[in-house]
Amino acid sequence: MSVVPFELTDAAAAPRKKSVTVRVGNVPVGGGAPIVVQSMTNTDTADVESTARQVAALARAGSEIVRITVDRTEAAAAVPKIKERLLQLGADVPLVGDFHYIGHKLLAEYPACAEALDKYRINPGNVGFREKRDRQFSEIIEIALKHNKPVRIGANWGSLDQELLTHIMDENAKAKEPVEARAVTREALVRSALISAARAEELGMKRNRIILSAKVSAVQDLIAVYGELARRSDYALHLGLTEAGMGSKGIVASSAAIGVLLQQGIGDTIRISLTPEPNGDRTREVTVAQELLQTMGLRTFVPLVAACPGCGRTTSTVFQELAFDVQSFIRDRMPEWKKHYPGVETLNVAVMGCIVNGPGESKHADIGISLPGTGEAPTAPVFVDGKKVATLRGATLAADFKAMVEDYVARRWGVSRPDAAE
Ligand code: SF4
Repeated sequence: MSVVPFELTDAAAAPRKKSVTVRVGNVPVGGGAPIVVQSMTNTDTADVESTARQVAALARAGSEIVRITVDRTEAAAAVPKIKERLLQLGADVPLVGDFHYIGHKLLAEYPACAEALDKYRINPGNVGFREKRDRQFSEIIEIALKHNKPVRIGANWGSLDQELLTHIMDENAKAKEPVEARAVTREALVRSALISAARAEELGMKRNRIILSAKVSAVQDLIAVYGELARRSDYALHLGLTEAGMGSKGIVASSAAIGVLLQQGIGDTIRISLTPEPNGDRTREVTVAQELLQTMGLRTFVPLVAACPGCGRTTSTVFQELAFDVQSFIRDRMPEWKKHYPGVETLNVAVMGCIVNGPGESKHADIGISLPGTGEAPTAPVFVDGKKVATLRGATLAADFKAMVEDYVARRWGVSRPDAAE
């Protein structure tokens, strides 16, 4: 049997596509800056306290930019108060206003709102119709220029500019080889974003004040649309699958679409649009966004726990409980660790279910434990930096392992570590 010669290729995403850097508040987006995680509130913006608390929670969870809807006069009036309350809560996170239909009026009538926001999101499909559209779009851009704010021109499949779509449909119908309707809609979405951006530039907005997005709800459409945006322009791009859905469906669809684009080097900021479960935690979308970037090796936020899925060799719940316990322990300890141990977010921990892959995987981690599977001796070897250093057993196993993790973190990232002065 002949063996096909192989070549080892780099296991890494393609280099980032060139884009212009846009500063949103104090956060750089694009131009090679770390890919920014952002999120959006689902409170009534007119409710200052609830909105400020949710923005602060999202920021604490790791959202680097937070968007709020500004849908009516009460919401516009609340924005400066939300900003003030956020500062009291110690959450100095850039705030983006999401405007539809009457954004031009709200921004003009509430200058304190226009000033308090760090960016305005404009949906070109919802700015107005016919002659009103151009006028109202211009008014928003002029206000952004006056207050020196960047904008996101965010087209959306669900609110696509119908005049533009009809125009491109007509063009397509006359073409020698017409393409399918879905491709026409994708083209309309791309053009809607690009035409609006060009119009903003004509009005005096600099390229480094414009971020583009063109969100759709189907994975393959999203990949195609953003591929085109990246090919035709160098605007900073905001990625997100709209109406991604609930629970695992929303997470899988968003991760598949955004993951493929990031792997191609496309995208400067991401939002995972998850429908929360009733009374669910809004910060979940931030955790998922961080985990997506971290598992792809693009950013590092929190230590990762590698755990095997378990199988028939792990008939007790000890293994699941320990994996959950260690993951929770690390999340709980991170705020404190981050203060004292810079770099700790790169920690890798393994919790494995049996001897088959346990020792091997544990040796690849910074610190790992291999629990006994069914029929194995009731002992759990612990590996640190690839070497077996201890064997744990008995009722204190979980507490003993967590103490070893704590000790490892302090030794490796503590200020008194041997290389601290280097
Ligand atoms: S490491 Fe052991 S318990 Fe875990 S999945 Fe593999 S065989 Fe099963």
